[in-house]
Amino acid sequence: ELRYLPWNPTSPVRQRWTNVGLRDDRVELTYRQFDAWVEAFAEQLAENGFGRGQVLAIVLPNRVELLVAMFAAWRLGGAVTPVNPAFTETEANYQIADSGASLVVTLGPGVSVAGRPAIHVDDMRTNRLREAQPPAAVSGDDLALLIYTSGSTGKPKGVLLDHRHAEVMSATMARHLRLTENDHCLLILPLFHVNAIMVSVLAPLRCGGEVSIVGQFSAGKFFDQVERLRPTYFSAVPTIYAVLAALPESVRPDVSSLRFVICGAAPVSRELLVRLRERYGFEVVEGYGLTEGTCASACNPVDGVRKIGTVGPALPGQEIRIMGPDGSFLPPGEDGEVVIAGPTVMRGYLNRPEATAETIVDGWLHTGDIGRLDDDGYLTIVDRLKDMIIRGGENIYPKEIEAVLATVEDVLESAVVGRPDDIYGEIPVAYVSVYPGSTITEDQLLDHCRRHLTRAKLPERVYIVDALPKNPVGKIDKPALRRNLSTQAA
Ligand code: ATP
Repeated sequence: ELRYLPWNPTSPVRQRWTNVGLRDDRVELTYRQFDAWVEAFAEQLAENGFGRGQVLAIVLPNRVELLVAMFAAWRLGGAVTPVNPAFTETEANYQIADSGASLVVTLGPGVSVAGRPAIHVDDMRTNRLREAQPPAAVSGDDLALLIYTSGSTGKPKGVLLDHRHAEVMSATMARHLRLTENDHCLLILPLFHVNAIMVSVLAPLRCGGEVSIVGQFSAGKFFDQVERLRPTYFSAVPTIYAVLAALPESVRPDVSSLRFVICGAAPVSRELLVRLRERYGFEVVEGYGLTEGTCASACNPVDGVRKIGTVGPALPGQEIRIMGPDGSFLPPGEDGEVVIAGPTVMRGYLNRPEATAETIVDGWLHTGDIGRLDDDGYLTIVDRLKDMIIRGGENIYPKEIEAVLATVEDVLESAVVGRPDDIYGEIPVAYVSVYPGSTITEDQLLDHCRRHLTRAKLPERVYIVDALPKNPVGKIDKPALRRNLSTQAA
């Protein structure tokens, strides 16, 4: 059905044609205007030789034009690869070349685009000159998105997602979150990440809802934006919630417009979620997923039983199982690898048949996450396999140590990584950021760990740092912490 395409006659936005559909801090577009901008830019793309089956690279920060470009490419039957605008030239060129993009939309001159022709955003044509070509017939099997994984496990890989993936995921999330035309999403996450596209754009759009794009997330301005725009929900990563939790106590915003807020993409401590609810009164709904699964695979309900500390049950249409090392499915309560099946499992990685075959086995997407299901089918993420520390042959889950640190009132965020050691192989080391004004010491935190953890799991040291390093999506950058440790050792 592809109800998120505004030119589709069954799209609900056609009943709301004159309502504001989309805004950022510079422009505000009704759905009719948005559609006209998309038409006009599609024509410009076509004049530049872009068409069906081709890939458009978009190197823009979150703004209305990014979505105009995305939908214009779709209107011509093409696909899009969104590129992190903060990438270095080398990083951007890698993605542009790897994706096979034939054309690039960029923020301005001076940007190298791997030898591809580029259209600068200021030259984007958004006024229709004449009657536009009718939209191309787009089917569920057409490629829609090529999203690159962050590459913490090697070179970034392009995840192939069809319109069917986008349709199923946006419909599932819209239903799960009970979205209607009255919903209004505040878009904060970067649009080169699948969560922002699915949960904050396509899901509300297919309901005829509204999307407000805030530029760079700013802790100081965020609640002003919430009070002024009165969104009904937003989706964010734990880092953003940690920043909001650490705001001065004098900040007492009116968040009454929010029905719920979503947290996902990385582990979050239950203490942080409780603190947010007590402080701001908003319901934080935690979900879990991967780019390879088109975004969410499990999510707590907005109007059912939410179990804090879990990421909720499998979303309708998807199946989640726990697999043992021998490939058997494990019963509730047992830890193993989380595997996912269903229509939102990616088509594969672009040009990487081996990596695809390793990741999707017999239809099951191997997530690389360790998890467990309870008797009601709620999933708990224990840790990521690749973050596991092996100390003298003993498996240690950093998340268990992080959970102990999180019970200390002063602790805002923490990350435990393994320090290479000649004798033990690896030894856990903890990095912690604390709430402003805290006077807690590293020794006090270590004492706390001593009281709650067996010797093997005890971090060798706890470092209090101003802030933990984050990757572009805002997840704690454990590879950076590991690199830091090995340079310290050297
Ligand atoms: P890669 O290293 O594979 O490039 P990435 O983190 O950029 O990784 P994403 O697809 O953005 O790739 O993230 C998927 C991963 O995020 C999951 O496999 C899981 O480890 C983690 N994750 C997502 N949601 C949650 C959650 N609610 N709790 C814990 N971990 C989560």
